[in-house]
Amino acid sequence: MDDSSGLKHKELEFTLAAVSQLSSSSLSSSSSSSSSVIARFSADSGVAELRFHRDSEFIDGFNVDIGTSQLFKLGPVQSLCVSESSGASKEKSYSRAVTIQFRNEDESRDFHSAFEQWQKDVIQGIHLPNGAIAASKSKFDYKIEPSSAKMYFHYYGQLLHQQNMLQDYVRTGTYYAAVIENRVDFTGRVVVDVGAGSGILSLFAAQAGAKHVYAVEASEMAEYARKLIAGNPALAQRITVLKGKVEEVELAEKADILISEPMGTLLVNERMLESYIIARDRFLVPNGKMFPSIGRIHMAPFSDEYLFVEIANKALFWQQQNYYGVDLTPLYGSAFQGYFSQPVVDAFDPRLLVSPPLCHVIDFNEIKEEDLFEIDIPLKFIASVGTRVHGLACWFDVLFNGSAVQRWLTTAPGAPTTHWYQIRCVLSQPIYVMAGQEITGRLHMIAHNAQSYTMYLSLSAKMWGPGAVQGGILQTSSGKLDLKEPYYRMSQPQSYTMAQDQQPQQLLQAQAIPIHTEDLDEAELLRQPSENTGPQLQ
Ligand code: SAH
Repeated sequence: MDDSSGLKHKELEFTLAAVSQLSSSSLSSSSSSSSSVIARFSADSGVAELRFHRDSEFIDGFNVDIGTSQLFKLGPVQSLCVSESSGASKEKSYSRAVTIQFRNEDESRDFHSAFEQWQKDVIQGIHLPNGAIAASKSKFDYKIEPSSAKMYFHYYGQLLHQQNMLQDYVRTGTYYAAVIENRVDFTGRVVVDVGAGSGILSLFAAQAGAKHVYAVEASEMAEYARKLIAGNPALAQRITVLKGKVEEVELAEKADILISEPMGTLLVNERMLESYIIARDRFLVPNGKMFPSIGRIHMAPFSDEYLFVEIANKALFWQQQNYYGVDLTPLYGSAFQGYFSQPVVDAFDPRLLVSPPLCHVIDFNEIKEEDLFEIDIPLKFIASVGTRVHGLACWFDVLFNGSAVQRWLTTAPGAPTTHWYQIRCVLSQPIYVMAGQEITGRLHMIAHNAQSYTMYLSLSAKMWGPGAVQGGILQTSSGKLDLKEPYYRMSQPQSYTMAQDQQPQQLLQAQAIPIHTEDLDEAELLRQPSENTGPQLQ
């Protein structure tokens, strides 16, 4: 999509009446001139810039990075351009402002529309006459807080975290099987590995006969990937490692197939799916294949008294009125809400589900990047049992839609445990349901610039029992959670495993007949089936 727009930017010049810089110390104009000044839009340094020249001399210190600046109209012929000052560290950087005086209103208007157009194009990547893209802020940089990105790529730059993923044999084994069983999709094809990490999927693609694989990795792991690939010489000659973000790197050719493992907790955490979509638009030929091609988020209400009590009890600390002579209770409410704002990550017994799950499908071939900024899922379930509902349980799966074999990688409860486990959003106020009763609600997720989502969950059920007017009163429980701050609850026994070759479809059907847990005691709940092979904890 990127280069088909074919935006070519010529240098653009405007004659101005004057230009001056707002000085931070005096808040007054520090430089001005009677001789005419030229403002020049240019991308020849590789960055989209606005530069000022007087008598053909470049005015030093006045240049403006268009991608990070804002232009304000102070009057019909006067504007102010505010930008980040360059060079200094982020903590110490101050804004700079240049006052621009136009000769007339028409020129002011033209200048503003040119500025707007350049700014829009910077976000998409300005195409220089030589075909390169101006190195300005990329889509990634516009969306993501630099400190979050720094921590994120630092994490993935470490071998121990790559090993953790490689040792998730359900995950890596499913990718391997999906690639090798679908050689027909890889043989003789150009492949891009989106977020290659250690390079493992690139090596699989090369094993499956790819003509060439571009392994794109933004973290320091790219260096280790080079080393690992070089150490496998039979495959190395068909793999090129590119260190950089998929939003920024340039490839010599288009890809026939993309392979990636962009899934985070609840599929969308880390916001890497957006990078996968951007890679599709930048690198994939029309109708090219994506491995995986769809993802599904599955959701069902659950009942888990033990989990609820465990979370509620965490805040009890703040109920002390005499903690070294200090009354802690003013913070009890905040601590209570804080614990319920953490999605719980663990493997739970699918018998805790109160109704059959529903699913939200994300088609990676079709979805637009912006569609992932806000995910709004209406919820409607029929309770299979009468119980207290404590929240919403969620998991995901992805499909490798190979030409030879279709394979699902599932993280469902009851399936072999993966390093994603499952997540549960626990509500601070449980709701009561009867068997056959409808539970409605909404899961509304809004992406934030720390590579995750704020989740708004609400569940409702009609009131029942002698006091409630038939059909009248609703019990509603709502919560706000941050997907970035999960509570890893790994001390719990893991769910039992099922045969590796069992398909998720069968599993979901099995879940459609949940067994109510109300009458089970703790020992029963935690008991593992005798054939259990144990948790796959790393
Ligand atoms: N493909 C590997 C690693 C998966 S983890 C495997 O399956 O084992 C995701 C990897 O994508 C991380 O190494 C991370 O650094 C990288 N990544 C995330 N966003 C990226 C982006 N926008 N551009 C390039 N790499 C990215």
